[in-house]
Amino acid sequence: MPATVVILGGSFAGLHVAHALLKKNIKDLKVVLVSKNSHFYWNLASVRRIIPGVLKDEDIFKPIAQALKKYPESSYEFIVGTAEEADFDAKSVRITTASGESKSLSYDQLVIATGSHTAGGVPWKAEGSYEEVVDLLKATEEKVKAASHIVVAGAGSTGIEVAGELGYEFGKTKEIVLLSAGEKLINGDQIAGPAANELKKLNVKIQYNARVAETRPSAADPAKTEVVLANGETVTTDLYLPTMGLIPNTGYVPAKYLNENKLVEVEDTLRVKGTSNVWAAGDVISKPRAGFMITQKQAAGVSKNLELVLAGKEPIVAKPLPMDILACSVGRSRGAGRMNTFKLPSFGVYLAKGRTMGLNMMPGYIDGSVA
Ligand SMILES: Cc1cc2nc3c(=O)[nH]c(=O)nc-3n(C[C@H](O)[C@H](O)[C@H](O)COP(=O)(O)OP(=O)(O)OC[C@H]3O[C@@H](n4cnc5c(N)ncnc54)[C@H](O)[C@@H]3O)c2cc1C
Repeated sequence: MPATVVILGGSFAGLHVAHALLKKNIKDLKVVLVSKNSHFYWNLASVRRIIPGVLKDEDIFKPIAQALKKYPESSYEFIVGTAEEADFDAKSVRITTASGESKSLSYDQLVIATGSHTAGGVPWKAEGSYEEVVDLLKATEEKVKAASHIVVAGAGSTGIEVAGELGYEFGKTKEIVLLSAGEKLINGDQIAGPAANELKKLNVKIQYNARVAETRPSAADPAKTEVVLANGETVTTDLYLPTMGLIPNTGYVPAKYLNENKLVEVEDTLRVKGTSNVWAAGDVISKPRAGFMITQKQAAGVSKNLELVLAGKEPIVAKPLPMDILACSVGRSRGAGRMNTFKLPSFGVYLAKGRTMGLNMMPGYIDGSVA
């Protein structure tokens, strides 16, 4: 009887684990990958895809079925579907497939890799199906084109990158405003000052201590949005792009396995606390924070431990990334970043990240060479 590993989520974490297991050609193992998205989404480039005419959908989406095609058909199953409810005692997950069919999947080992999303109908993550994300990107691109005034809310790395892309393309022709809830960008991280300087060069207006309390259609012109700040001020804009707050996609996970932020609680082996055969990696843990390189390292840790437990051995502590790299691209020629506390030069961040938005790394995720 083959062992079944069910992986939920086909992005940085889930696809990595699938490749890692299938590459090993483990005897009597069946890998079942379930993802809402039929395509792997290089979401790091979403901030640039909304700028008219710069990137195409084909550049940032690749079919997952194609990525797995090289493995023997009997060794895996790829299902486009959504996990609705997991029962860790019964070792089963109820899913709804893309065609609307409800199915129960039994597993021996389960991997939770369903990531997170940002609220507010923005395309920074694959919240919906592939078709829905493509449509949302296109609609956002059209709105960017038409707007004269754009408000980007949230001054974390995504907010800085969105404002940077808009400032680079439209800093001289549209008004771009970045709202920061605090008195510094990116929660006062060391890169706050350099990032603010780069944004100013692109004519992005940064408004500090500007926490969004509410948004509503303008009474005078319902096509516009009124952004009401906690300090009572109202900013009226043609386009409101929120970037704050990552919401974990863990609604199907029983509450007792989640912490107060709805993130999955794991041991240092990346096994979910209180279980013997459920694992998690990536933004569903967000530990030490959400990041694709952290996710990749965790996916490698989960894969290694699955291999061990499938061979009847004990799991080992998953190694963290040896250093903390934080790099924000700011437009298509500059950036701000650090490696631990070592400041990275602006042009260096552009060369390492902003030039390609990491798209040069995407083939490795598709052909499985990263795993
Ligand atoms: C604009 C932007 C730029 C970024 N830039 C960087 C960067 O430069 N460096 C860095 O380290 N990190 C960066 N990140 C963070 C990085 O994107 C995340 O850490 C990474 O995407 C996490 O991968 P994941 O596989 O855990 O989850 P996700 O990428 O969130 O993917 C989750 C997958 O699960 C699917 N899914 C969701 N719910 C279900 C369900 N119920 N059933 C089945 N499937 C489901 C989703 O459709 C998706 O395919 C950036 C993030 C954003 C938003």
